[in-house]
Amino acid sequence: MDFGYFCKGAYLAVDLVRTKGWYSGTERLTPERARAVLQRYGHERRVTKNDLPRLFALRDRLRAVFTAGDDASARRAIAGLLADFPARLDLPAGGEQSMTFVPAGGDAVSWIGANAAIGLAFFVAEYGAARLGICNASDCDDAFLDESKNRTKHYCSVGCSRNENVRTFRARKKLVQQ
Ligand SMILES: [Zn+2]
Repeated sequence: MDFGYFCKGAYLAVDLVRTKGWYSGTERLTPERARAVLQRYGHERRVTKNDLPRLFALRDRLRAVFTAGDDASARRAIAGLLADFPARLDLPAGGEQSMTFVPAGGDAVSWIGANAAIGLAFFVAEYGAARLGICNASDCDDAFLDESKNRTKHYCSVGCSRNENVRTFRARKKLVQQ
């Protein structure tokens, strides 16, 4: 399933949320990592250590969209982000480039906040909050977008799905042996 151009920011949100190990508490967000996330979306912006507290706060708010649990709560969380990270719509002239959103703030955090909020807004408006997932693996808790046809995705990655299957298998085997 392809969610399309306007939902791109929803993937940006996932990428930022996944800079922390939510189960282990491992912090992986550094200025370098934030720059790498930006580059993946074709954007070059200076990120320094001073930006980290705002990035941590933004990441918590983005994750809250994924853990909201229902459509109304997710929409409220996204609306709050749209208000705090405003952007204007632009149509660049003379190119094949699509419409773009220009964040009001010129810094990296404003860019990530605005684009992630807009992407999540389009995503939830089109596909519903039920497609915003938190990994079911007992040692993960990462966020993901459910791209499956029938909304059946439970894990953030093939690795997590495999590990959890192994765990279930071992637990069953132990139960049988007892
Ligand atoms: Zn996972």
